[in-house]
Amino acid sequence: MKEYLSKIPPEVMNIARTLHEAGFEAYLIGGCVRDLLLHKKPKDWDITTNAKPENIAALFPNTFYENTYGTVGVVTEEEGTDPSLKVVEVTPYRLEAKYSDNRRPDEVVFSDKLEDDLKRRDFTVNAIALDPFKGQVIDLFKGQDDLKARVLKTVGDPDARFAEDALRILRAIRLTCELDFVIEPKTEKALADNAHLLQNISKERIRDEFSRIIMSHNPQEGLELARKYGVLRFISPELESAIGIEQGGIHKYDVWEHLIRSAQHAADKGWSLEVRLAALFHDIGKPPTRRAGVKNDKWSFYGHEVVGARMAKKILTDLKFPQKTVEKVVKLIRWHMFFSDTETITHSAVRRLIANVGQENIWDLMSIRAADRIGTGRPKESPYRLRKYHAMIDEVMSDPVSVGMLKIDGQKIMEATGSTPGPHIGYILHALLEEVIEDPKKNTHEYLENRSKQLLTLPEKELKALGEKGKETKEQEENKKIDGIRKKHWVE
Ligand code: ATP
Ligand code: MG
Repeated sequence: MKEYLSKIPPEVMNIARTLHEAGFEAYLIGGCVRDLLLHKKPKDWDITTNAKPENIAALFPNTFYENTYGTVGVVTEEEGTDPSLKVVEVTPYRLEAKYSDNRRPDEVVFSDKLEDDLKRRDFTVNAIALDPFKGQVIDLFKGQDDLKARVLKTVGDPDARFAEDALRILRAIRLTCELDFVIEPKTEKALADNAHLLQNISKERIRDEFSRIIMSHNPQEGLELARKYGVLRFISPELESAIGIEQGGIHKYDVWEHLIRSAQHAADKGWSLEVRLAALFHDIGKPPTRRAGVKNDKWSFYGHEVVGARMAKKILTDLKFPQKTVEKVVKLIRWHMFFSDTETITHSAVRRLIANVGQENIWDLMSIRAADRIGTGRPKESPYRLRKYHAMIDEVMSDPVSVGMLKIDGQKIMEATGSTPGPHIGYILHALLEEVIEDPKKNTHEYLENRSKQLLTLPEKELKALGEKGKETKEQEENKKIDGIRKKHWVE
């Protein structure tokens, strides 16, 4: 028996057996067969069958229709934690139908023949069917040869296949970098020729493939391919604008190459999607903020972290990333220009940084710094400096950096001062936080209560100014910074 057959989980075998016993055919198909033959662990399991959706639904206790393609999700009894086994997709054999919109077949037509179903699959290596009982492989398009040669090639004419469903263009890039394949020349040409059709593909689907490219071990290569085939603008035109933006100074790479190298380092380290995205976009504000530099600097990028954070917010929101992801990436980008000189850095500066980026993000911010350095082609931060940063962060980590961490709250302030609720309470809290960030020893109830009383005697305007200064959002200040850049250099 072939060794890979033993890798098929019992849950999957059981589903195939149930279909067989009811008189239907059942083959493993797609990525799971490809991965089994490559000795990789499949991400999910797909079965293709001559049973129709209603037959499938009738055979299993817990199923649901997954999409408009007739796929039935079979929920396994599996109690374990392997997410790849929770749902096995069982899809009836389908004929390739006509596509008028470059993304969805006009109608879904079922077939009784496995051959029809294999023909509609995207790439030869994804069109290999495996009989899980006999171990027989049905490989009408020589997918196994392509697996051996590590070549990605469409089933049938690549131009026609990409025109039917332009998402396949992004899938090609994603699979190439996930699998370390090369793209067959005709397929490659068709990629470039049809890239413009991606305009018809929804942002969600683009996001999913883009995320997979970023989460692969090869984001640098994937993004380079996206650039090469003219696909990049459908992910982010802003990234495309970074190509050829020379930086000067310590930078030997243009902004684009710096960014993809930074993202690659984040991938090499196995960091999270958010960190990888922040590494990729951290200098996205550089192209629009680049100005002739003064003295030795050929270029300056004043305010690029503020502009870049806003651009990233728009880019990731347009791509429909979850709000939580967007917010985290935006914060990391906004605060990536932090202290550089270990000799002069103070504890209160570190506290302020933590207050800005958030305690939960500070180590990720350090990761962005590492990615930034490596992406510049500079060696890693010296162990001495790294140790010093880490020690300082550790030292201040339990210090108060948010209003919630103060040893007083609005209620207590009102009790102590006999004051009524209103915005002034917020101003007081923020003004107190400012002081405590400067000197955490002041975080005692006694001090803060006395200080609240004093602050309350200030004229409203002055108190407001103090409170707003303490508010770390500093929206207005940032707007001014950007307006300044605009006034000086931009037309609008
Ligand atoms: P992975 O599971 O690692 O993401 P995969 O190749 O299995 O890779 P799936 O999205 O699970 O990707 O799709 C399962 C199979 O369905 C593919 O292997 C392929 O045969 C087929 N398929 C998926 N998307 C398309 C498409 N857009 N056009 C044609 N066939 C497709
Ligand atoms: Mg799959």
